Amino acid sequence: MDSHPLLKTLGIDNLHHGACTGEWIETTGEPITSLNPSTGEPLGTVTGARRPECQLVLARALERFDSWRMVPAPARGEVIRQLGNKLREHKEPLGELIALEMGKIRSEGLGEVQEMIDICDFAVGLSRQLYGLTMHSERNRHRMYEQWHPMGAVGIISAFNFPMAVWAWNAAIAAICGDVSLWKPSPATPLCALAVQKICNEVMAENDCQGLFNLIVGGADEGRWMADEGRIPIVSFTGSIPVGRKVAAQVAGRLGRSILELGGNNAIIVMDDADLDLTTRAITFGAVGTAGQRCTTTRRVFAQKGIHGKLSQTLCKAYSTIKSGDPLDESTLLGPLATARAVADFKAAIELAQQQGGEVLCGGNAVEGPGFFVEPTVIKAPPQQGFPIAWEETFAPIVYLFEVDDLNQAIIDQNAVTQGLSSAVFTDSLSTAERFLSPAGSDCGIANVNIGTSGAEIGGAFGGEKDTGGGREAGSDAWKAYMRRQTCTINWGGELPLAQGVTFDVG
Ligand code: NAD
Repeated sequence: MDSHPLLKTLGIDNLHHGACTGEWIETTGEPITSLNPSTGEPLGTVTGARRPECQLVLARALERFDSWRMVPAPARGEVIRQLGNKLREHKEPLGELIALEMGKIRSEGLGEVQEMIDICDFAVGLSRQLYGLTMHSERNRHRMYEQWHPMGAVGIISAFNFPMAVWAWNAAIAAICGDVSLWKPSPATPLCALAVQKICNEVMAENDCQGLFNLIVGGADEGRWMADEGRIPIVSFTGSIPVGRKVAAQVAGRLGRSILELGGNNAIIVMDDADLDLTTRAITFGAVGTAGQRCTTTRRVFAQKGIHGKLSQTLCKAYSTIKSGDPLDESTLLGPLATARAVADFKAAIELAQQQGGEVLCGGNAVEGPGFFVEPTVIKAPPQQGFPIAWEETFAPIVYLFEVDDLNQAIIDQNAVTQGLSSAVFTDSLSTAERFLSPAGSDCGIANVNIGTSGAEIGGAFGGEKDTGGGREAGSDAWKAYMRRQTCTINWGGELPLAQGVTFDVG
């Protein structure tokens, strides 16, 4: 089989090893074949890592940690600056590889690489801002402060739908925090991981810090190993809720720390006073972008009575203009789903929705092969309580359109599901917006006004509540999850006063 030209451009056409610490390690595990979701044809096969190879990678990573933790944080930032620059140089082919292997459209693939570049830039600045507080000691001639230290190895288990960016959110921040990382990507997107690792290898070689970024290609077994491994103090898991539940229990069982980024079931509330055009565009991008395969995809819309009818028309009109096809073609807005199984899940959801009283307003069909294509679909839904399919995350471009009386009902329905990732309200009313953002409003980790549910910027902390797992990654102070806090008290006087006025005189 001839390699795709993109693999040659990125120098991964001859790479079959599924483990790397800066140098590729010969692996002996299961062959993992990457499929092009647009055609269903294989793109390449990588040999997965077996347990001894995982152990070897971890040993090399821990060796690097011993020295990396002592490198001043701003000097660690310099390495990440170089990584960001290399990603800039390779932005186009990396973005196109994402489109090829995962199926999101080229523009979103490039956007995902930009997200890696952005997080590197952010991490460089952050490397000079790992601030701790100082406190006033109650004791005479004592100083008290807190400082942040690295934790060790961070395990990164990632999902197929963001085959590069999720790694970067974790690895770039972990690196400036003084940690090393081990990445187990989704078995659906091993080539994206090889391409990123190859770039990391160049940066590590130029800075003599091999073992800082490490790769382990594998499936559920290697993920379980990471969750169980006591020498990996932090496991950052991105994926489905059922798997996240297992990983969380395993990591908690050994009193490790997990960062969980799990499924969403995101809603947009549309009030009668909303700008219809803005709302239609936001819902269309939120529901159809990445073929509905984002954790932040818009899956439910609660439209107030006065706008519900008009919105269903404008949505179907917008949907009729969406061109689906090859994600690398500039005019394509809708690429394929990831697998044949995802197409089957799409069909099952449409059937269930109809059985439960939903009415397909547009779309609703899978497209004949090759590739895993489906139509973007709007379903007019009965009240949510009697419509169980809407309580689940179906990873496909299906949006359920509900009618609601008022904001109160919309917020109750929005928050009723078990997931709590992203949410939005469209309104021209300040008090409606503020009510939505108040403690009695949206219960999600992300709450937007007149912006859809997907497409977060890296500067904020990203993540969600309830079954979404409670983890936070990327910006703001999410870095704290990758470090340990140490409270230090220094006595610079000649006495030994005890806290709380306790006396304990000896001699
Ligand atoms: P998935 O749960 O099937 O797989 C995720 C990762 O877990 C893969 O690397 C997989 O190999 C690994 N894995 C599988 N079984 C495991 C086990 N028992 N122990 C440890 N690891 C195991 O998810 P997916 O289908 O790749 O991704 C889609 C899901 O990810 C959706 O639910 C989506 O909402 C979610 N997601 C969430 C976020 C977020 O930030 N909240 C971002 C992207 C995706």
